Amino acid sequence: MAVDAADLAAPGAPPEPAYAPPPLPVPPYRRLVVGFARLRSLWQRWFLWLLLAILVLALLVTVVWLAGKHEVEQVQAALDRDTADAVTDLRSGLQRNAQSLRATQAPGPDRSHWPEAAAALLREHREWLRLEWRDARLRTLDAVDTPYRLHVLDPASRTAEQSDVSLACAAARKLGTPAYSPSHYVPLGGGGGMEVMELCVPMDTGGGFLVASYSLRDTLAELVGPTLTRGQEVAFTETDGTRLVAIGTARRVGTRVFTSQQLIDLPGAALMLRVDGWRSAPDLFPNVLTALVTAISIALVSVLVLLARDTRRRLRAERDLADSLAFRKAMEDSVITGLRARDLQGRITYVNPAFCEMVGFSAEELMAREANDAPYWPTELAHEYQQRQARRLAGGMPPREGFESVFMRKDGTRFPVLIFEAPLLNAQRVQTGWMSAFIDVSEQRRIEELSRASQERLQASARLATVGEMASLLSHELTQPLAAIASYATGSLNMLGPDARGEQGEVAMAVRRIAEQADRAGQVIRSVHDFVRRRDRTREAVAPQALIDAVLPLVRLQARKLGVIIEVVLEDRLPAAMCDRTLVEQVLLNLARNAMQAMDTADNIGNRVLRLRVARAVAVGGSGVDDARRWLEFSVADLGSGIGEEVAARLFTPFFTTRADGMGLGLSLCRTVVEQHGGALMFEPNRPRGTVFRFTLPAAA
Ligand code: ADP
Repeated sequence: MAVDAADLAAPGAPPEPAYAPPPLPVPPYRRLVVGFARLRSLWQRWFLWLLLAILVLALLVTVVWLAGKHEVEQVQAALDRDTADAVTDLRSGLQRNAQSLRATQAPGPDRSHWPEAAAALLREHREWLRLEWRDARLRTLDAVDTPYRLHVLDPASRTAEQSDVSLACAAARKLGTPAYSPSHYVPLGGGGGMEVMELCVPMDTGGGFLVASYSLRDTLAELVGPTLTRGQEVAFTETDGTRLVAIGTARRVGTRVFTSQQLIDLPGAALMLRVDGWRSAPDLFPNVLTALVTAISIALVSVLVLLARDTRRRLRAERDLADSLAFRKAMEDSVITGLRARDLQGRITYVNPAFCEMVGFSAEELMAREANDAPYWPTELAHEYQQRQARRLAGGMPPREGFESVFMRKDGTRFPVLIFEAPLLNAQRVQTGWMSAFIDVSEQRRIEELSRASQERLQASARLATVGEMASLLSHELTQPLAAIASYATGSLNMLGPDARGEQGEVAMAVRRIAEQADRAGQVIRSVHDFVRRRDRTREAVAPQALIDAVLPLVRLQARKLGVIIEVVLEDRLPAAMCDRTLVEQVLLNLARNAMQAMDTADNIGNRVLRLRVARAVAVGGSGVDDARRWLEFSVADLGSGIGEEVAARLFTPFFTTRADGMGLGLSLCRTVVEQHGGALMFEPNRPRGTVFRFTLPAAA
């Protein structure tokens, strides 16, 4: 892709190279603030987690406690119920017993068959130890002992004065119903003893009593259901809690006691029934529900722990990701190479800041474009670029070493870029588009251009040196013949004499002209010789008019041939110019010749005017340092073809010419001469057409 030199040299300022400054160091107080903020957020997070854990734990403990309490209450209620049932059973059993005892009495004082009936009752009721028939004064009339025990109660002790029997019978007499005595301890042979309670039933007739002695232990065993004694202890106690007798299972170690006691209010006596139930409580998990709730809570806590660990890991991963993203972004932002990604349809999916800066469009503007259109494609090359893109999308691989292209900035200026393209592969190594890197090579091209120009200048200087040598040689070789021509002319003039008339006079005139031109040629050759040898010539004050007059005859010769009209304009009272007369004349002659040659075109016939003008210069000469000096400005204007941009760029380059017979040294020599005088040579377009060359010379003081 050829880069248009004109485009490269176009005025629009080239963009600053994309350069991202290194990040500024973070001041210590800022680091402190950031540190505090991090610490606070960390602390907040940990605090929340801790709060959650405490709440869950509190919930768990409450649930377990409530469930345990509920369980205990249930057990207690069941025990209370059982105890109440047992008390009812006992009462009704005792009542039945009293009735069956009462049923044994026969009407009248006849007690002949009572022992038999009593013995039958005793066989049925193991809880009774002895049945007695007593008269109204509590003397024992008849007595039968239980067949299950051997003389537990000593008949001798069972007198009318026996306090327990008398208490019970007193109550029975008073109430008119069967009554009981408080329990009393009856020692047995062999160290033991038993608690006994007396029942006294008043006889229907005769004022006697039937007395039954209850063994409290057997009463419990017989009248309380066996289910109650299973797994728990059932006891009779006094109202103050003193234990009298107990049956059932003994307490196991490590169990919890549930106690329930109820009063058995008997006529004449008050007894308490106490049931102690053993449960394997306090169990931490008294039932399935609690166990379930606990298991769920443990699972919940485990999930929380796992979640916390997961969150910590995720946070760390997020932080790592953010760090690497920030690093990647910083890299993309600070890189000076333009980066661009396109999808497989050719749409732009990513551009970095360097690329945006290079082309002058924002990322949004670039990505909003359709696939087959990019705002940085120069209009004249858009078609070619579209074809290139189509080839790429069809799978054509770009050259690995990159290729050069021209892009257009937003302001319309073009610039050369070096492009490297490569397929864009995703994590699965599948191509998802194209990635391109761009390097703005305008600066390189400018440097190359400069070095090429200086190379050319070097070559030109070398050739100029050769030309100088040749000119010096030529001047040396031509001096002799020119001197000979001059002396022959002088000789001829002398021979013709000063008063030659007619034809001789004309010949004399011609010979004089030959002498003049030979002399001029000699001077030119000497000037060139001196110029080439860089010998300082003495400057002299020359009137501008004299300089113009000196070149006019030669200019007119050519003007006549080309049909050019010559106009000479000189300001009034111009100062003299301080210059090397011959060289300045040569400059004027060169410029005038160039001007006339520029007007020698077919479209210019009848409109060929050469204007020579001398005026005071307002501005200073080329160096621009000496304002105090006065200056003269010489201008040579034509109505020729004008100078194009391309020619203008190389106008003063030695050996540059557009003419087949040209040497290309004229203008370069002119500039050297003018600059040696401290002046400047420049040119500009003439109105309505053509070119004006101006040069300045210092005026004589
Ligand atoms: P030469 O006359 O030998 O070509 P110059 O250095 O005098 O060398 O001129 C270089 C070129 O500059 C010419 O070939 C011509 O194209 C261009 N040039 C010089 N003067 C004019 C002018 N007045 N108008 C148009 N072109 C000019």
